[in-house]
Amino acid sequence: MSSRFTSTDLFLLGSSYCGSTHLGALLEANLDATYAGELAHLPAYVDRYALFDSPLGCLICSADNRPCPRWTPATMAAVSGAGPPGAGEALRRSNAGSTATSLVVDGSKWPEWLRLSLRDRAIALPRTAAVVAARSPFGYVLSARGATGEPPWVVAAWWRDVYVDALRTLNLLGIPYVVIRNEDVRADPATAVGRIAGLVGSPPADGPVRPARPTHSLGGNVFVQNGYRHESTQLLERLGLTDVGSSSWEGPHADAVIEEATITASLRPANREEALGIASQVMQVPFLTEIAQLLGYSMSVEIDRFVARSDGNAAA
Ligand SMILES: [Zn+2]
Repeated sequence: MSSRFTSTDLFLLGSSYCGSTHLGALLEANLDATYAGELAHLPAYVDRYALFDSPLGCLICSADNRPCPRWTPATMAAVSGAGPPGAGEALRRSNAGSTATSLVVDGSKWPEWLRLSLRDRAIALPRTAAVVAARSPFGYVLSARGATGEPPWVVAAWWRDVYVDALRTLNLLGIPYVVIRNEDVRADPATAVGRIAGLVGSPPADGPVRPARPTHSLGGNVFVQNGYRHESTQLLERLGLTDVGSSSWEGPHADAVIEEATITASLRPANREEALGIASQVMQVPFLTEIAQLLGYSMSVEIDRFVARSDGNAAA
């Protein structure tokens, strides 16, 4: 216990489909961390703040229809009663004993949730830090238009707005943060974990980085938590979240679908012409390019990659 570093409530901020479930599970596997999931998804908070439409519990336990060892009714009540500022600490205390961790990671993602968590925050509560969990605007657009049916230029503006709000809020509130891109987490998870460990003052993970594993977290990406299998689709249908068919990850593009999978299927362009049309719409969203570059994306590289993959779609 003497090696424990100071407790920190770590907030993940970013767009939908930014890979927060995977990142949270990676942190839980490698640091003295609990990935709480999307605390704003707790029924009490959905009622009070409406940042999410649907209340959700632990997805891995919901899938198997068993009581959750982490999110017991008592823990749910304690965390709900604590309000946004005290939610992380209430979870930490509910998991008293060997399972309590210094780091509690909140994957709610909405900047508004961070503002609520910082408002009138008691001085005795743990310090806060944040990760801007970034996703390429093209990856986001494919997922968001698949999920909502809205045109690319509409959803691309949502992407821009959430990252503007995240960076603005973190700078205004003076919260220490790092930007971690989803694509870098996939390519080099050790560096991503190391940067976050450095941010929160956690001792670096010993040995090689361990893969993300399913966690008892609220909400999140059901495919990350439950695997890419038919049961995951059935669970989504039971929760009323989607009616997407399992064929989307069993076809010839299964790898691409799995890489970009969300609770809904991403809608990829059928050919080069459609990809160029989507790229054009994305680039015409005011200030989107600037925000993407601020997050570390080179837009010319992103467009090349996006269009090249659509060639693969047409050829298959
Ligand atoms: Zn569970």
